[in-house]
Amino acid sequence: MNKIQMVDLKGQYNDIKNVVNSSIQEVIETTAFINGPKVHDFQKNLESYLGVKHVIPCANGTDALQIAMMGLGLKTGDEVITADFTFAATVEVIALLNLTPVLVDVNVGDFNIDIEAIKKAITPKTKAIVPVHLFGQCANMEAIMEIAKANNLYVIEDNAQAIGANYTYKDGTKVKAGTIGDVGATSFFPSKNLGCYGDGGAIFTNDDDLAHTIRGIVNHGMYERYHHDVVGVNSRLDSIQAAVLDAKLPKLNSYNKARQTAAKKYNEAFKNNNNIIIPKLSNGCLEICDTCDCHVFHQYTLRVKGIDRDALAKHLSEKNIPCGVYYPIPLHRQKAYVDARYNEADFEVTNQLVKDVISLPMHTELDDEQIEYITSTIIKFING
Ligand SMILES: *Cc1c(COP(=O)(O)O)cnc(C)c1O
Repeated sequence: MNKIQMVDLKGQYNDIKNVVNSSIQEVIETTAFINGPKVHDFQKNLESYLGVKHVIPCANGTDALQIAMMGLGLKTGDEVITADFTFAATVEVIALLNLTPVLVDVNVGDFNIDIEAIKKAITPKTKAIVPVHLFGQCANMEAIMEIAKANNLYVIEDNAQAIGANYTYKDGTKVKAGTIGDVGATSFFPSKNLGCYGDGGAIFTNDDDLAHTIRGIVNHGMYERYHHDVVGVNSRLDSIQAAVLDAKLPKLNSYNKARQTAAKKYNEAFKNNNNIIIPKLSNGCLEICDTCDCHVFHQYTLRVKGIDRDALAKHLSEKNIPCGVYYPIPLHRQKAYVDARYNEADFEVTNQLVKDVISLPMHTELDDEQIEYITSTIIKFING
């Protein structure tokens, strides 16, 4: 059996080696390292893949979130509601811009931001909601967009973990994750579903004026060369990364399919186990079907009950099975973000999830033998 990896970037590279190598070589030969034609090609191809009017590439996913908030003109003291159970980047940029983060609880089923908790958190100072499409499936965007409309709030989607996922409205209309709110932000960090070979990110919007504003912000606030109209940043996707991404984009659907196939096999093995809660699909889906497009399984995250999660994690690593705990500490209890406004009783779900979630190896190269070894090792541990 091949060594099991949490994320297997080498296996994926071997399959696209020729395209990627020649594409990178072309960037080097033409020395178009910054804003070269590859960046433009990738931008256009991603726009058409997502069905969004504007993709603005930038240096990483954290910048993408920050720039999205700058583009919307959010001001000191504006309150921004986001999920307590996510990677810190989301709340970090809110704090960096001197906005006021308002962390709220998530759903126990799909781990995404809790709609009732959003409603409860709205005050006259609230200006935006940042749903995070955690682990690969969308938050309840239809409800979030309704709340935003009724309260005149912006919606910024943190789509770092769900690129390629579809969101299905009640009437059956499908749209790509990240293109529903006023603006979407994504990351091309190597381990993400569409990852480059370094750092990268992008911002999506259908709003022409906002796209224009953001294109200036990523480039030092310049709309005309050496005229700086607003305070900007320097945040670029370099051409070599764009070359890698442009070579991988045509494969994104098959990559996501491979993740779903692995998730389905995990589900099969665990679905009748009393000590394991398999990941719940939102979007009205009961199980992963052949045409599944709502969950792209950036992570395959289980919840355990009646067994010690940390003991299981330790056992797995002794058996050479990597695993992860995303996330072990709620953001509202992270030193950088503690705030007297928060009340523990409002974070019941996150406080539980940090104790019982565990993420299994998930990537495009997992084979049957590896999945069988992982699932049987877990089941044997549970059965003692
Ligand atoms: C990875 C990630 C980010 C940040 O992306 P970087 O490219 O690493 O800056 C932001 N939000 C979420 C939810 C992520 O998973």
